Amino acid sequence: MEKEKIGKCPICGNFIYENQKSYYCSNYKEGCKFNLWKDTKYFDQVLKITKEKAKKLLKGEKAKFKLKSKTENDYEAYFTIEMKRKYVN
Ligand SMILES: [Zn+2]
Repeated sequence: MEKEKIGKCPICGNFIYENQKSYYCSNYKEGCKFNLWKDTKYFDQVLKITKEKAKKLLKGEKAKFKLKSKTENDYEAYFTIEMKRKYVN
């Protein structure tokens, strides 16, 4: 079975594939550390990164997430990924 390519690695340019818990770089055997968790912690909340969102993020586009505020009203926020010293923020 051929794996679906989610996008290109922002670090090394190889393809990104998905596994159960994250999106990872196909170049990991050569030491590329790119890894985008499907459940990413954002303060006390968890962002669910769907495949659609991962594709957008890997293209450098914004993805929209629903968040809860302290007053219990949901709000939406946009996130992008930013590479800082090879870690994904
Ligand atoms: Zn890579």
